[in-house]
Amino acid sequence: MPLEASGVLFSLGIPLSDINLSIQIVDVPSCLPNEPSIKIGDIPSDAVLPERWCRTPVRHVVSSIHGRDVERVMRAFHIVQWRRESLYCGVCGNKNSDSQTETARICPHCRRVEYPRIAPAVIVLITNDKDEILLAHNAKFNAGVYSLIAGFNEAGESLEQTIEREIWEEVGLKVNAVCYKISQSWPFPRSLMTGWTARYAAGVIQPDGIEIEDARWFKRDKLPELPGNGSVARWLINRWRLEH
Ligand SMILES: [Zn+2]
Repeated sequence: MPLEASGVLFSLGIPLSDINLSIQIVDVPSCLPNEPSIKIGDIPSDAVLPERWCRTPVRHVVSSIHGRDVERVMRAFHIVQWRRESLYCGVCGNKNSDSQTETARICPHCRRVEYPRIAPAVIVLITNDKDEILLAHNAKFNAGVYSLIAGFNEAGESLEQTIEREIWEEVGLKVNAVCYKISQSWPFPRSLMTGWTARYAAGVIQPDGIEIEDARWFKRDKLPELPGNGSVARWLINRWRLEH
């Protein structure tokens, strides 16, 4: 199955000799021992694709595949983006080389080593004492779609502090009983998404009006349109729906 997003194209199993394009094919080791490597080719978004290949947004693909296939696609997408952004040394500006021993770029001039960048992020399912969860409509979402409060970790913050800050900034609430549940690679663009639960403690919902356009408490039998399967947000919501 060929996959594409933002000009990036991957293959899950189809021989890359199928691609009649002059592109560099890179072997990326799997994170797991005894698992085949992932072959990545970065094809320009305006390239004419060979027959049998099509372009499919990665987000759509990961909502329809499962298990290790999801993780391998996430890794491939993350590495391709990082390779695009690490062509040159960030200190001296010379062109980087590929490390022969690990997934890294090395500057031949100053020996600076650059690894794939990973930005930790949090997403949190907030419950109240009325058996409801807080869902918010982000300005970037499609109309009618609601999800959990999420945000990026700032330099110097613990993830627990990120959760408290994001919830306060985006909807003006205080929470307690913050509890870690799950994590997932989420390379849109380069996150490690960590999923959490928390209990409402104080405050009145006040969407920030910039990132969050609307936020409300929802009961489990009256949920709005949700993010697709395969996301940590959906996993946390589904898990809550099945409780009791
Ligand atoms: Zn350098």
